[in-house]
Amino acid sequence: MTKRVALIGATGSIGRQALEIVGAHPSLELVAAASGSTRIDGLAPLTQVGGDFTELLERAEPDVVLNAVVGFAGLPVTLWALERGVDLALANKESLVAAGELALAARARAGGLLLPVDSEHSAAFQCLDGRSPSQVDSLVLTASGGPFRGRTRDELTDVTPEEALAHPTWSMGPKITIDSATLANKGLELIEAHFLFDLPYDRIEVVVHPASVVHALVRFRDGAALAHLGYPDMRVPISYALTYPERAATPVPALDLAGGLTLEFHAPDLESFPLLALARRAGELGGTYPCAYNAANEVAVGAFLEGRLPFLGIADAVEETIAAVDGAAARDLEELLEADAAARQLARERLATPASASAFRPEGAESA
Ligand code: NAD
Ligand code: MG
Repeated sequence: MTKRVALIGATGSIGRQALEIVGAHPSLELVAAASGSTRIDGLAPLTQVGGDFTELLERAEPDVVLNAVVGFAGLPVTLWALERGVDLALANKESLVAAGELALAARARAGGLLLPVDSEHSAAFQCLDGRSPSQVDSLVLTASGGPFRGRTRDELTDVTPEEALAHPTWSMGPKITIDSATLANKGLELIEAHFLFDLPYDRIEVVVHPASVVHALVRFRDGAALAHLGYPDMRVPISYALTYPERAATPVPALDLAGGLTLEFHAPDLESFPLLALARRAGELGGTYPCAYNAANEVAVGAFLEGRLPFLGIADAVEETIAAVDGAAARDLEELLEADAAARQLARERLATPASASAFRPEGAESA
């Protein structure tokens, strides 16, 4: 049986790898493709560049939607699939982090599958294999630690976008690469895991594992832990989500164990990388705090990439925004969009204040 696939965000890092997976499997048929701004004529029977993708999705009648858009802009695609009970392969973690309960309520009403594409969550999904949260002691998400692992806070003051964009183990789009350098990515993933697996935050741990071979572990209440291992290659979780429950072959090589694979784990450094602890706080506060965390982070990462904000200013902007928003739960999409817009506005105002500006020392300036 063929599966009709709609790929939204087809020109990005995930999108391009998804095209490879779809092209390799005769049972996967690409019926629609969309991108934010790059032309994609002829890529699929239905294509669209920018705008509202929901009409494209209506016409495409997909069996599965792969949401590979980056950022909160992916929200309408996530909600479209969840509200209609169409299976959703979700790479766009920001939409689930921001929409949280609203997204889960839509899924509960319509009953489609929510298949994580994020490698850690795909790994956890497979280790959990439908077992009830009551059997789970805790979920462990692994983090590579990014390019600045091991640095003190002082050693992060002057890092440039170029340095932050050089990720040691994963090749990804710019936004998630910066998020990996600040550990905001792991913070978003912590909140993503809470919503995907219905686990309270005190039962989700994060450990640094530089090799990115163990993607997640689930500790069960009997003392057993199941781990998911594999080389860091997004084609594996993309293929798993698109061919679920069949687990099709991929070109990714088997792990070379006899070649001397060693596994190393450390506690994360929450002082150098405060965005991880801030995500936990935002998640525990609940309501629209995760939405505000995400919104402020998107604004701050954009400013960092444009050279308008120092690296450590990203966490400051998020922290100040979280302290300033009201965080009340959104009862509907309109309230969620308002919360997102309000947090963005606060983050932008904070980036424009003299306090934030004076913290920014342009390249070449003397360090304090
Ligand atoms: P990317 O920047 O490489 O690609 C983003 C895609 O989204 C592009 O196709 C772009 O055209 C589209 N897009 C951007 N802005 C848009 C907008 N406003 N409206 C509609 N489309 C827009 O990003 P990526 O690295 O492929 O990441 C995509 C998502 O997958 C992110 O949420 C990221 O966190 C998640 N993810 C990525 C990886 C990875 O290895 N790249 C791993 C895990 C999760
Ligand atoms: Mg991930």
